[in-house]
Amino acid sequence: MNYSIAVDGPAGAGKSTIAKMIAKRMGCVYVDTGAMYRAMALFMMQQGIADTEGEEVSRQCRRADITIRYEGGEQVVFLNGENVNGQIRTEEVGRMASAVAKMPDVRAKLLELQQKLAKSSDVIMDGRDIGTCVLPDATVKIYLTASADVRAGRRYEELQEKGMVCDFETIRADIIERDRQDMNREISPLRQAEDAVLVDSSLMTVNEVVEEIIGICRQKGVGGK
Ligand code: C5P
Repeated sequence: MNYSIAVDGPAGAGKSTIAKMIAKRMGCVYVDTGAMYRAMALFMMQQGIADTEGEEVSRQCRRADITIRYEGGEQVVFLNGENVNGQIRTEEVGRMASAVAKMPDVRAKLLELQQKLAKSSDVIMDGRDIGTCVLPDATVKIYLTASADVRAGRRYEELQEKGMVCDFETIRADIIERDRQDMNREISPLRQAEDAVLVDSSLMTVNEVVEEIIGICRQKGVGGK
């Protein structure tokens, strides 16, 4: 039987950074489910569909063929045959992703892809509903969070490092709005699964968080005692 590690939490909590490092240490596959919602958002943006056009999003999502491949250990997302990794990391796509993620047809389609990936290998999968919906029987469940100020600060630094012009207050407001949408939607809202372990990374370094989660995994028999 494969093992699975589910990591959920709000935007900017450091889920992908941490999950990538743990995947390397444990030799499992890192599945970034946010990237799939982002690819779906990009598709809608390319079609000129607005974030308020829910019905149109539901209708059109069938036409978006989203697949995942692993190249050199990195997850590559393909949208209708095109590698879109370089186009999905903007704040605009993130905002649209949160809007399309409300639609049941979109979620059903991506859920199938996510569950298939978890069946075929040992995974660490991050997102918003992994422990609650996608992998309810995950071997380990982590809810990774941090204060809104800390999360906005990290995003700000990340964007600055990439040479992008950004404003701290705008990023902070964006993060708070995205959390509000993700936590209050009707289907698969972001929440901590009952059996998830809470890790608050506000005052922790990346390495401390990685060690803490690896410790939790070991207690559950994942990655050696
Ligand atoms: O994690 P990331 O910021 O890339 O996710 C983008 C958006 O995709 C989230 O704000 C959320 O609305 C949606 N999402 C989701 N369920 C997941 C992963 C992401 O609804 N499992």
